[in-house]
Amino acid sequence: MISTIAELRSFLAKARSEGKQIGLVPTMGALHKGHLSLVEACREECDLSVVSIFVNPTQFAPGEDFEKYPRTLDSDREKLATVEADVIFAPSTEEVYPPGSSTTVHVAGLTERWEGATRPTHFDGVTTVVMKLFQMVQPDRAYFGQKDFQQAQILLKMVRDLNLPLQMRICPIVREADGLAMSSRNAYLSTEERRASLVLYKSLQLAERFLAEGILDADRIRLAMEAEFSSEPLAKLDYVALLEAETLNEVDEIQSPVIALVAAWVGKTRLIDNLWLRPAPTTS
Ligand code: AMP
Repeated sequence: MISTIAELRSFLAKARSEGKQIGLVPTMGALHKGHLSLVEACREECDLSVVSIFVNPTQFAPGEDFEKYPRTLDSDREKLATVEADVIFAPSTEEVYPPGSSTTVHVAGLTERWEGATRPTHFDGVTTVVMKLFQMVQPDRAYFGQKDFQQAQILLKMVRDLNLPLQMRICPIVREADGLAMSSRNAYLSTEERRASLVLYKSLQLAERFLAEGILDADRIRLAMEAEFSSEPLAKLDYVALLEAETLNEVDEIQSPVIALVAAWVGKTRLIDNLWLRPAPTTS
């Protein structure tokens, strides 16, 4: 495990001089199979996989769960050994943010809606720390999950807008057997809340069924999804949205693939999920 930027750079400089392709998987730790699937994708394509573990304070607003966010470095290291990650980079806050840091990366537009409306400072924290990790590691490829769909779109845009010399890979959502998207925050859920949290995926599956029946009207689908949440008293819906992926603009009618996003509180835990919705091919 490496904890300083200097040590990381000298290790990676040697690997790069040997012609190795470097992959980066940024995480906040408390690893689950979703994270490990990113490491596996990285190992398949790259010669050297770097997994960063850093609970980034700047993406949490005051009053959010920064202090209680699970920190499980020992078991994370064991899990990463099972997928044979090459380097674990776990820096301190002072290492990532030198005292007096005042520079941020802001992606205008895409950051203002959906997650950004509820968590207005969140994405600047994400883009800033990911940019820093890109500078530290200088990866050939970086791996992110579709689980955080808006985050992935924002990071793709950051890479395009800033002409960053790396390839982005967005990997599918890994789910529990009953459909709940794996998340480090699932650890907060009580038994009752864990059961109630299924409403997120159920609402997405409901939308999928509407499409299979040829119902393409976005308002109708959204209302049905919202009704699904009304039937679950432990969940409080934040938003349901049917969006064009690149712009994150809402659609009226589902003519081409759209992304359905849901965000809700289950007890004090905020959960998000999403699913691609594809209109059934028309038969002629
Ligand atoms: P986090 O540790 O929550 O910051 O997540 C680190 C990376 O893992 C992000 O790119 C997430 O989108 C991704 N990730 C989180 N949960 C899942 C999941 N269930 N399936 C696939 N990727 C995930």
